[in-house]
Amino acid sequence: MSQQKFPSLFVSHGSPMLAVDATQLAHGFLRNLGDTLPRPESILVISAHWETSAPRVTGAVHLDTIHDFYGFPAPLYELRYPAPGSHDLAKKVAHLLGPTAGVDLVRGLDHGAWVPLLLMYPQHDIPVLQLSLQTSLGPAYHLKIGEALNPLREQGVLIIGSGGATHNLREYFHPAGDQQPYEDFAVWLHEVLTHRDGEALLDYRRRAPQAARNHPTEEHFLPLFVALGAGGSQAKRLHHSFDRTLCMDAWEFDD
Ligand code: ZN
Repeated sequence: MSQQKFPSLFVSHGSPMLAVDATQLAHGFLRNLGDTLPRPESILVISAHWETSAPRVTGAVHLDTIHDFYGFPAPLYELRYPAPGSHDLAKKVAHLLGPTAGVDLVRGLDHGAWVPLLLMYPQHDIPVLQLSLQTSLGPAYHLKIGEALNPLREQGVLIIGSGGATHNLREYFHPAGDQQPYEDFAVWLHEVLTHRDGEALLDYRRRAPQAARNHPTEEHFLPLFVALGAGGSQAKRLHHSFDRTLCMDAWEFDD
């Protein structure tokens, strides 16, 4: 039987409140997203919240739920996502990424990984791995990381980049009152992705409208490049909404 080939995904995980706030459009979207896809054998998440100097992939069999956020309501800290890990797949991922990559036997899942998964696959019965970012190495490097992961899509692995289509937290908590810069960035992103303008996207910090305001730091945008590199040539926006300054868009990259 030939194996199902999975698209790769980019999702915006927004504020940790997304896990419990059913009034957010992205909450409802993620709740339905798992049902729209064939069931994967395993899931590999590249989250904005794990940054290392060289690629690391979780290889623990039991993954802790990391509550890596502060000052949120108590119920958020009680949420758990006790999905199994997969040491064998972790070794395979590290092998695909070359000699500098390694398996981390201790690390669990940060909220960039478990918040979307809690909504997409609440039964937490699919093995999950998380892969780290090397933020200082930028977009082109992360596109290549994605390309190296591409064969996994034919092996039952759903690859998810989890970050933010825009991510200005300062203005999220202290709104400047002007939503336009974020709307403009989302329009630009839609344009370059649907036209597959990889050159413009790689150069987004110079070419996108107010890139540095939309992404004061790059870590929430880089998972998009991993998903793009891992995916096929067809880009489709699956979801579009805003949580204040945070654009919550989700994308699918398929053949
Ligand atoms: Zn985040």
